Amino acid sequence: MPTFVRTEKCDGCKGQDRTACMYICPHDLMKLDKDGSETGHSMKAFNQEPEQCWECYSCVKICPQNAIEARHYADIVPLGGSVQPLRGTDSIMWTIKFRNGTMKRFKFPIRTTAEGSIEPYAGKPDADKSKIEDNGFFCTHNGYREGDRSELINL
Ligand code: SF4
Ligand code: SF4
Repeated sequence: MPTFVRTEKCDGCKGQDRTACMYICPHDLMKLDKDGSETGHSMKAFNQEPEQCWECYSCVKICPQNAIEARHYADIVPLGGSVQPLRGTDSIMWTIKFRNGTMKRFKFPIRTTAEGSIEPYAGKPDADKSKIEDNGFFCTHNGYREGDRSELINL
């Protein structure tokens, strides 16, 4: 379910061409409506394709104004409930509101690894590109085995 922007909180990242939510969205969904011609709210961001939203929460976490919220699938967060993160320098505080009024807060540390310094393939062998057509090209060394049709469930 998509994110939406609380227009009263959004300050358009103070007029930058590329707002924080535009920068972080992996699906390029957030857009700043500079002159208000698209939404009627100038200098406010909006989710331009809600049906494409992954609900990854990246924009919700990065927004410096805490202006973005996510609507949830009803089976996870029933109507009237909300899940909202507030990012600090070393942690994220999650506020969970239940529709019966109960509220819970959880604080989790965030990573302190410098941006751009992660090596996702560290410790893994170099890929043997001569095997690029083979099944399990990347994961063979992690115990890949051929599929066995007899293990399929036949209904
Ligand atoms: S990151 Fe937040 S404040 Fe900045 S444009 Fe997006 S919604 Fe508005
Ligand atoms: S929740 Fe993720 S996919 Fe959806 S608008 Fe925000 S950053 Fe983009």
